[in-house]
Amino acid sequence: MSSHRSAIEDVYAQVLARNPGEAEFHQAVHEVFDSLDRVLEKHPAYVQASILERICEPERQIIFRVPWVDDAGRVQINRGFRVQYNSALGPYKGGLRFHPTVTLGTVKFLGFEQIFKNALTGMPIGGGKGGSDFDPKGRSDAEVMRFCQSFMTELSRHVGEYRDVPAGDIGVGGREIGYLFGQYKRMTNQYESGVLTGKGLTWGGSLVRTEATGYGAVFFTEHMLATKGRSFDGARVLVSGSGNVATYAIEKVHALGGLVVGASDSAGAVHDPDGIDLDLLRDIKERRRERISVYADERGRRAKFLPGASVWDIDGDEPIHVALPCATQNEISEAHAAKLVAGGLIALAEGANMPTTPGAIRVLKDAGVLFGPGKAANAGGVATSALEMQQNASRDSWSFEHTEERLSEIMAGIHERTATTADEYGAPGDYVVGANIAGFIRVADAMLA
Ligand code: GLU
Repeated sequence: MSSHRSAIEDVYAQVLARNPGEAEFHQAVHEVFDSLDRVLEKHPAYVQASILERICEPERQIIFRVPWVDDAGRVQINRGFRVQYNSALGPYKGGLRFHPTVTLGTVKFLGFEQIFKNALTGMPIGGGKGGSDFDPKGRSDAEVMRFCQSFMTELSRHVGEYRDVPAGDIGVGGREIGYLFGQYKRMTNQYESGVLTGKGLTWGGSLVRTEATGYGAVFFTEHMLATKGRSFDGARVLVSGSGNVATYAIEKVHALGGLVVGASDSAGAVHDPDGIDLDLLRDIKERRRERISVYADERGRRAKFLPGASVWDIDGDEPIHVALPCATQNEISEAHAAKLVAGGLIALAEGANMPTTPGAIRVLKDAGVLFGPGKAANAGGVATSALEMQQNASRDSWSFEHTEERLSEIMAGIHERTATTADEYGAPGDYVVGANIAGFIRVADAMLA
């Protein structure tokens, strides 16, 4: 074991002891630390300055009570979180997740990832994340509004254009950002557009922000495929999820000549060998807000619904060339990965945050599958948030074409930086090592400075 490896293990042991019971957070830290021996060898100043210890400890963690009144007139209580992780590169930046499973550990895992993802974009944004264990499912519009208003009543003291800029994540979309922004405006008596991103287009939002994470993941995958002389043209693709990220990943894959044959939600998966009908899927999920289970019936043809299954359980006869997990963390097990490899997988890129388990990543890497980690592959969302902040700061709004062009350049830059860093540190083709190291160095240097 190198002396650096044992120093890293020591810091990791401290992280475990200081943050008991936060398995996802431990997993995220471990994954980054795994790449860092070679970094400490080249940069002894990081050791001297205890950068590893410092980077694992959030600058500030806020936990607050969120009381709100449901439609029956009863007071409900949820817990709100905002972890302001690292501000070396700019104001804290990262989404809010509303989901019943959200704990402080979830928010720390997401916030930790966000630091390096944001750094990789090359833009001036620090890392943060927030959320609540509030479950928006089955809640009326008015309930969601009252919850968001109460959440922002407390959060408003901690955020700001130069301080901390939240956005959406699972369970938080345009509607929720609207309620949150309205409450912030009321609390502060200021029209501070840059306090939140993912806003509506008539009140400070950016074109392409909604599409950005899905489009960006596909752009990143295109660059990975090109290193092997491949493209999306004629590729068969599985996409998990059917939210914002998945929807626009499907749209872009189809635009590039690929065929997406699977999608899912928490009720189950749909297998559609003729290609997902995106208009129908969007009508079901976005307009009617129904479960994906109705898709197969309405689509007819060879479409099938697999109740309770994930997209990765689909057994088809034809090969799958590209996998884009766009649902949630740890959705791809080792067995799923082995099945994908056997089915002819060439590339997998993470549209969601940490959807691939460590065992699955090992299987994919051993088989020579191109693997794009979320820090790089799904950075298009937050990068376009930074473009929204730019437009807000200059009181401007850009065309769709210009904004998509900027996104595409940013994704090309992330791919280039990630691939070059992997080469430089002796791990050619390893996007995990490349993304972790390139992101880490940018933050560490700013912290040192
Ligand atoms: N929630 C998204 C992410 O995981 C976007 C964050 C943002 O735009 O601030 O990167």
